[in-house]
This record gives sequence, C-alpha cells and structure tokens, in this order.
Amino acid sequence: MTELKKRIRPWVRIGAIVLLAGLMLFAAIRLYRWNTTGNSKRALTLVNSWNPMSETGYTPKLTETENGLLVDRACAKALKKMLSDCRAAGVQPVLVDAYRSVDEQLVRYDEEVQRLLERGMELEEAEREVALRIAQPGRSEHELGLSVDLVDVAYQEMDEIQSTTQTAQWMAENAWRYGFILRYPQGAEELTGYGWHPWHYRYVGEDAAANIWALGITLEEYLSMFYSEEAAVQVSDA
Ligand SMILES: [Zn+2]
Repeated sequence: MTELKKRIRPWVRIGAIVLLAGLMLFAAIRLYRWNTTGNSKRALTLVNSWNPMSETGYTPKLTETENGLLVDRACAKALKKMLSDCRAAGVQPVLVDAYRSVDEQLVRYDEEVQRLLERGMELEEAEREVALRIAQPGRSEHELGLSVDLVDVAYQEMDEIQSTTQTAQWMAENAWRYGFILRYPQGAEELTGYGWHPWHYRYVGEDAAANIWALGITLEEYLSMFYSEEAAVQVSDA
C-alpha cells in the first residue's frame, strides 16, 4: 500500500501543477482579450459636431510626446514609431498639435471668431465660417488625445496646399500601418462635418485603420457599418 502511494504521489503533484498552469493560462488569455477589446473600442470613440465629448464617458490618459505636446497613452508608442519611420524615409514632419483641453479649444474658437468679426463679418456668419474649420469646444476630437496635426517643415500652413508636401504624402500612404487615419478626407464634408484637413490624423488602432484605409471610408461610415449600436452614430442631417 505504501509502495503504491509512493508511486502515485509524483503523479498527483504533476497533475496539480498542470492544472494550475492551465488555469493561469486561461486567466491570462481572458485578461488579454478583455484588455485588447477594451482598448480597441476606446480608440474608436467618436467625437464630432453631433457627438460631443461629454457623452462619450472618455477620459484621456495623457502622456508627453514631441514638442511638449500631450497624447493619450493608447497612441503614444504608435505615434513615436510612425514619426521615426517617416524621418528615416527622409521626410521632415513637424508635430504642431495633439491633445487640447476644452478650455484651449474655447480660446482657439473664440480667437478665430474674433478675427473674422474684426474683418467686418457678422457674428452669425463668422461662427458659421469658423465652425467649418475649427470644432466647437466640447466637440473637438483633439480633446480625446488621439488626434494629431502634422505639417511639413518646408510648409507649415494648415490648408489644402499642405496635401502636396512630402509629409502629407508619406502620411497618406503609410499612417494606417501605425493605426492612424486621415480623419477629414477630401469631399467628405457631409459625413465628417469638416472640409479636407490633410494635416489631421486620428488614431483608431491598427485593425480599424487598415480597414478604413482599404475601403477608403470615414470613421463615421466605419462605425455605422461595424459598430452602430455601441457607437450610437448619427449621421448629420446637414
Ligand atoms: Zn487637428
């Protein structure tokens, strides 16, 4: 009897170890899945003129990036890699804007309205004009910390000519590989609410960016196609 016990004991121990290892592996896989799906949904948070930041429940987790600017941690590594690969290709991008707080957005918006009023425009007309280019406070994607404005060292204006620069061209071809998309493409005003912004890139995660790029669609269209319920997307009537 004791002989038998002696022979069985090592097997019991091995069995317990295998079972424990299996449980740990199972827990690790569950945790990884939970984490990655959580993060990828987070990176798809929609903020636009008709989906205000306050309704998203999103709180940016900020970290410092180039030029003293802040971005959400979710995209910091990808941004760094993208900029370094872009530079390695001989292109000279300049990161001019990233995260903006609601207050900073308010200042920017008011300054622009003020500038047009000083030129003699009526308030209503000035606000309409500014709204096409600058998001109203609380409705800017920059408040997520997932958007960046990139210009070329040789041409730093944020207008349509920016699209002809080496930076914009490199970004248009390669940004999706790093999880970024051209957020406001040419001719998509009715879908996104904004005109063509060849300098504005948004992090959505690698899978979504690859799909959006391949299909040539906007984030609004992508979310309506694949995530309509979670994203609660409404397409503007305007
Ligand atoms: Zn921007």
